Amino acid sequence: MKGAEKGMQRRFGIMGGTFDPVHLGHLRAAEEASYLLDLDRVLFVPSADPPHKPGCELLAYEHRLSILQLSISKNPRFGISEIERRFAGKSYTVNSLRGLHEEFPGSELYFLMGLDAFLEIDTWYKFTELFHLARIVILRRPGFGEADVEDFLTRRISADFKRDPENGSFIHPVMYTVYYLRNTRLDISSTRIRKLAAQGRSIRYLVPPEAEGYINGRELYRGGGRN
Ligand code: ATP
Ligand code: MG
Repeated sequence: MKGAEKGMQRRFGIMGGTFDPVHLGHLRAAEEASYLLDLDRVLFVPSADPPHKPGCELLAYEHRLSILQLSISKNPRFGISEIERRFAGKSYTVNSLRGLHEEFPGSELYFLMGLDAFLEIDTWYKFTELFHLARIVILRRPGFGEADVEDFLTRRISADFKRDPENGSFIHPVMYTVYYLRNTRLDISSTRIRKLAAQGRSIRYLVPPEAEGYINGRELYRGGGRN
């Protein structure tokens, strides 16, 4: 990111994940969020050592990062933050969001997450603080139903969350608003892509062509029985 941009107050979408590998489900959801919420940028934040995937053999950070870089290079609104590289030990979202606030003072952060991830947020490190650091944006995802987000928020996060009848978001007297996006549901997961690649089958049209070329050219995920 250019120095001049850093001082500006802007609206950033932040999308965390393992991105092993990034796919069109992530990219389309981020694209729709950027337009629907009028975001200036969406930063993808690959986790170095995700706490939720213990013992799972991840593709090396450098490979996941390279695939991500190739995949977003043509979109001027998209960028990558390597902030989780700097944390020793586990990557925790609360630390990343604090770090991004320091890096971009005065900016609004919109933390994008799939419904599957959101419904586990009450297991995350210092999860209540997340609602004070960023506007959480829930993305619809096939296979994870239309959960009762209001029920989850009021039971697990704070009883003071209320649905805003105007736009279906959830408002709170002190925490940031939580948004539930009407994004296109794309039934794509990295798990499925790893399985296909492991079997030597096509991953075309599930990932951008640049990502497909990188993965196939290096025979990544081949013979991996880790799923
Ligand atoms: P894996 O199968 O390895 O868990 P994944 O496809 O779920 O991979 P992650 O890197 O775990 O990808 O996801 C990062 C974030 O993107 C999470 O918040 C997840 O819910 C969201 N996400 C992933 N795929 C989609 C999709 N198809 N639509 C909307 N959100 C998605
Ligand atoms: Mg996942």
